[in-house]
Amino acid sequence: MPDVALFDVTGKGIFALDFDDDGRLVAVGAVGAALLELEREAIVDRLPAEVFPEAVVQAVRDCLPLPIFTARIFQTLLPLGGVADRTIEWTLHGLGVGMGRIALLEANDVTVRKRNDSRLRNMARAVEQSPISVVITDVKGIIEYVNPRFTQITGYGYDEAIGMTPAIVKSGFTSPQQYRELWETVTSGRDWRGELLNRRKNGDLFWEHISISPIRDDDGDIVRFVAVKEDVTMRKEYEKRLLYQAHYDDLTKLPNRLLSIDRLTQALARADRNREHVGVAFIDLDNFKKVNDTLGHTYGDDLLRVAARRLVGCIRASDTVGRLGGDEFLIVLPDLHDPAHALSVADKILEAFQEPFLILGHAITTTASVGLTIFPNDGREANILLRNADAAMYRAKDAGRNCCRTFHAGLNAIAMHRLRLESLLSGALERGEIFVVYQPQVDTRTGKLIGAEALARWRSPELGMVSPMDFIPLAEDSGLIEQIGKFVLETACNQLAAWRDHLPEGMRVSVNVSSRQVAVPGFADVVENALRNAGLPAQCLEIELTESLFALRVASVVETLNSLRAMGVRLAVDDFGTGYSSLSYLREFPVNTVKIDRAFMIPVGDEAADSLVRAIVAMGHSLNLQVVGEGVETAQQLAFLQEIGCDAVQGYFVAKPLPAEAFLRFASRA
Ligand code: C2E
Ligand code: MG
Ligand code: MG
Repeated sequence: MPDVALFDVTGKGIFALDFDDDGRLVAVGAVGAALLELEREAIVDRLPAEVFPEAVVQAVRDCLPLPIFTARIFQTLLPLGGVADRTIEWTLHGLGVGMGRIALLEANDVTVRKRNDSRLRNMARAVEQSPISVVITDVKGIIEYVNPRFTQITGYGYDEAIGMTPAIVKSGFTSPQQYRELWETVTSGRDWRGELLNRRKNGDLFWEHISISPIRDDDGDIVRFVAVKEDVTMRKEYEKRLLYQAHYDDLTKLPNRLLSIDRLTQALARADRNREHVGVAFIDLDNFKKVNDTLGHTYGDDLLRVAARRLVGCIRASDTVGRLGGDEFLIVLPDLHDPAHALSVADKILEAFQEPFLILGHAITTTASVGLTIFPNDGREANILLRNADAAMYRAKDAGRNCCRTFHAGLNAIAMHRLRLESLLSGALERGEIFVVYQPQVDTRTGKLIGAEALARWRSPELGMVSPMDFIPLAEDSGLIEQIGKFVLETACNQLAAWRDHLPEGMRVSVNVSSRQVAVPGFADVVENALRNAGLPAQCLEIELTESLFALRVASVVETLNSLRAMGVRLAVDDFGTGYSSLSYLREFPVNTVKIDRAFMIPVGDEAADSLVRAIVAMGHSLNLQVVGEGVETAQQLAFLQEIGCDAVQGYFVAKPLPAEAFLRFASRA
């Protein structure tokens, strides 16, 4: 008999059956007894039918008559003890003849294995049929498995995907930074969740909600990554549509009230930080209701659409036009360095509505009324600014419509006029509204023409003639003086060059230049270019500068003045005597001319004034300067200047500043 202790080394239940005695049990190991939940004594000497399930009994019965047989394997359920349905795998081995007709019956409890097998099978089936795509990669990110849903969504077949990396669906819209974060998260053993815009094999983009988890082996090492991905393109698009509907007006496609006010609020916060202005224009169409009532809603809707487009045409890309509702629109003008820009936009809007609207073959005239407020002058909060703009708009309606009104509290008449002037001035040069007139300068003794002062003029269609006393300081403040000054300089040089055949030899032109122009680096080059382009010798040009410019002695300005003198350009001190009592600068600077301010001319006959003028002339001559008397209006004034030896005069008594043609006529008469 075999040693029963050996029966247990395999961990399986082993039973020895005597085939010469109907298969009677002759020995059993401890494992086998435990499997049957019987004592060993209760098993030994029993017949198979007494201890085994029917299938085993049947197998033994089948094999009993056979001299030899190969191992028979079969499974039964053992409904024993509390554990129902234990699956046992039986193997019946017939042993060799030398040992007598003994058979060994092996019993292996495979319940757990079987359960695992079927669970795995179920899981595999679930993954295969999942409506969510699943990708399994190795630790390097090489794809080992994709389910059919992956193929369906991406268009990449199983064989195409295996061996590749998930980068095959990269769209190019995800930043390397984002991928790095993803990879760092999962390789450090944590789950990563997020949404990525990916690309199908056919090139289409789609949004995926992705969840990636590391899979560990029994030692806790990461061996794989599994990614579960859901196509959320539809949801994303739906969200986008919802967002759009919440923020945009369906009819005009403009931002609606909500978004417009949001933009305004943002603009205010930014302007507050940057100390800038924000313009808020409230626009109401003037006879929209009439159109709607008489022609119908189709016309009304069309009119609103076209009006919206015209409004958009009036603004910069950074501005916002929104529809507040009905025929009310809002324009937000953020980052206004110059609040007057808001006025020019308002002008543009009014102009844009002058032309009739062509709606379904009808020409419809609809003007607009505009109410304007400026942050921070008219309010610091969005709702206050809106309310005030609305009030201003009603004032525009009261004033007869088709116009713009500002909210009074913040912008008084003078400030408003200045703003308006500034906004109109900004385009005046381009519109050709700036031109130059010439005032003759004559020799005091002979009366012969020696030169002309070029003076800027602005003829505005809206404002009429504007004095340089008003617009030059404005241009200086806003920086426009650079362009305007350059224009006057070039015009004067070109004009004198064109005149040279008709005018006396040595005629010169004097051009006024603001401190601000001289302070800009490269001013000497501007002058040099103007002369060269005109073909005019440098000594034909005199530049008039104010006393303050010399008195301040700014290093860069001194340098510019020296290079102008080096070129041969003449320098004059304008309005002499009004500013600085110290005249020492005249010694330091290469000045050619002083122009006595016209304030000294008025009271001729006044002893004090007369002696002052006398002193200026004497001092000028002692410094070798030419002295010009300005603002000479009467014969007495001229006589006085002749008497004291003033070199040249300029003033209404000789001639007013003249347009170019008139100047030429004056010159040929003189
Ligand atoms: P300014 O340089 O002292 O120019 C002389 C001003 O006196 C001119 O005024 C001229 O029209 C005026 N005037 C001439 N004769 C008489 C007179 O007999 N009686 C009176 N009451 N006035 C007379 P305008 O043209 O209005 O220019 C005013 C100022 O504007 C100029 O004073 C000058 O400082 C400035 N300006 C004019 N054009 C330019 C320019 O192109 N650039 C710069 N930077 N400033 C300019
Ligand atoms: Mg002058
Ligand atoms: Mg002057």
